[in-house]
Amino acid sequence: MSQADLLIEYFKRHPKRDIPHPEIVDWVTEEWKRQTGGVFRDPDRAIRKLHQQGLLIKVKKGIYRYDPEFVENREDLEDFSPKIKKEILERDGYKCALCGKGLKEGAELHIDHIKPKDKGGKATLDNGQTLCSECNILKKRYGTTDFLRKYSHKILKIARKYEDKEVIDFFEDILEVIKKHEKKA
Ligand SMILES: [Zn+2]
Repeated sequence: MSQADLLIEYFKRHPKRDIPHPEIVDWVTEEWKRQTGGVFRDPDRAIRKLHQQGLLIKVKKGIYRYDPEFVENREDLEDFSPKIKKEILERDGYKCALCGKGLKEGAELHIDHIKPKDKGGKATLDNGQTLCSECNILKKRYGTTDFLRKYSHKILKIARKYEDKEVIDFFEDILEVIKKHEKKA
């Protein structure tokens, strides 16, 4: 049995109940020690991960709930249906919304959640965008802001080579905006 299995077992024993953090942490660390003799390190992280996987509902800070019906429905809520996928592809012209590469250029196209699933982003037309695998990986790895910064630098390099003033001005402004907002945060 893994640590995640043990955690979810406790939640499953108390379905649809709001379970405060100390209660589950105390139980799981003791139970883990009893069963394996080892120390359950960082239960907070394990709980957060279950939440990100859509197995637990975060009621508020430090309180989680397991609801079997929610778990059953999460696929429908979070994954794009074939119909919506097609609508997004058509709206985006079968091209990556970020770099513009399409099937003709040999790009493999994915449908991306603009607001990520684990932050409550739904599988709707508005929250979906077409991305090529390269941009998709960059976005997942760096997050939206970091991605935008990296992408802007990449474009600036090309634009400077061709001395394309309009594009240079635009992406220099973008980088300024990112800087300004990072100072605030
Ligand atoms: Zn792309």
